[in-house]
Amino acid sequence: MAVQAVESTSTSTVSLGPAAALSCRECGTRFPLGPIFACQECFGPLEVAYDLPSGGPSQAAALKKRIEAGPDNIWRYAPLLPVPADVADKPNLNPGFTKLVKADRLAAELGVTGGLYVKDDSGNPTHSFKDRVVAIAVEAARAFGFTTLSCSSTGNLAGAVGAAARRAGFRSCVFIPHDLEAGKVVMAAVYGGDLVGIEGNYDDVNRFCSELIGDPLGEGWGFVNVNLRPYYGEGSKTLAYEICEQLGWELPDQLVIPIASGSQLTKIDKGLKELIQLGLVEDKPYKIFGAQAEGCSPVSTAFKAGHDVVRPQKPNTIAKSLAIGNPADGPYVLDIARRTGGAVEDVNDEQVVDAIKLLARTEGIFAETAGGVTVGVTKKLIENGQIDPAKSLVVLNTGDGLKTLDAVAPTTGPTATIRPSLDSFREAGLG
Ligand SMILES: *Cc1c(COP(=O)(O)O)cnc(C)c1O
Ligand SMILES: [Zn+2]
Repeated sequence: MAVQAVESTSTSTVSLGPAAALSCRECGTRFPLGPIFACQECFGPLEVAYDLPSGGPSQAAALKKRIEAGPDNIWRYAPLLPVPADVADKPNLNPGFTKLVKADRLAAELGVTGGLYVKDDSGNPTHSFKDRVVAIAVEAARAFGFTTLSCSSTGNLAGAVGAAARRAGFRSCVFIPHDLEAGKVVMAAVYGGDLVGIEGNYDDVNRFCSELIGDPLGEGWGFVNVNLRPYYGEGSKTLAYEICEQLGWELPDQLVIPIASGSQLTKIDKGLKELIQLGLVEDKPYKIFGAQAEGCSPVSTAFKAGHDVVRPQKPNTIAKSLAIGNPADGPYVLDIARRTGGAVEDVNDEQVVDAIKLLARTEGIFAETAGGVTVGVTKKLIENGQIDPAKSLVVLNTGDGLKTLDAVAPTTGPTATIRPSLDSFREAGLG
């Protein structure tokens, strides 16, 4: 197995659609497509580089037509992703094309007049945005001949890998911090792959996985967010593509995106820039805002202090899916927030719970704690004047509230419990 993986690295015979090479985000050095994630020159992170069409008007029109005629999932954007052209015919969970909800009642509550939308990724196959990134990593794992799919997870990724591995015919073994929410643990275990709880936080789990990759025990293993990370990351671009297509091929003015490792935020920015470059949307300025929980806010702390370096924290928050104390893409998030004129902000656990309830009460969308972080930060940024309420705004809900019931259970329940009689109902005063 290891031999197969190494061979494909050195020969670069793999065919992943328009993906041309891996390129270092720090020094630009290029490497053949393979299961590597760090630059051999400077240890910088690698990302996928493409041969994309030039973006002339007729090419843009043809590409738009092709996308619109594609399947109702992320594979409609296959010409812009590191996947084989026949990807839609392979066994995969086919995530994406989730709802972009025009949130008028939430807008009224928050005073937004420029158009407020919630991109609701709880509608994915395992109920979080992670199905997008895993779907791309699965295709890379196939191409490189891996037989086991793995990951270090804050919860949602473990379920997404477990399910995708089953569908695609891989063995899976995923790693989580031992103290996750019951909904996340059950969801990660039910698909039948191996699930290992590690006594430690996410950063400990991630360190363990890095060690496993370097050990013979991990031979033939594709860790979707470690040695397949360059491919995995590209899945988040589909959020940018979908949002713009659903807005009628237009860029939103402002986006609020949750931050765990920061990968999603940086790749949404990459996706938006590609759409501009390809001529699929008209170029105009957009602002990207990042959202963290106060109990794990290394990026927002650095942003507010004006630092370029993100100092690691020990997480302590109910938003466990975002609880990465040492976020790999933190510095890139800072760059993007500053370049676009956005910001990074955080809210405390009480505000997270209030925001979950606000979104549920106004729009009928039940978000997990990460969604509460994003909505809560949106409210805060409107109140402090950093988000312009007269301009369009897209807020991401990246996960499903059913997986984090404990966050709201103590303050949510039946209005009354009555005997099955009209008298009893009358007494409760609810008629
Ligand atoms: C993983 C995750 C994110 C963001 O992850 P990044 O590491 O920043 O890409 C956001 N929301 C939910 C629900 C997640 O599970
Ligand atoms: Zn480099």
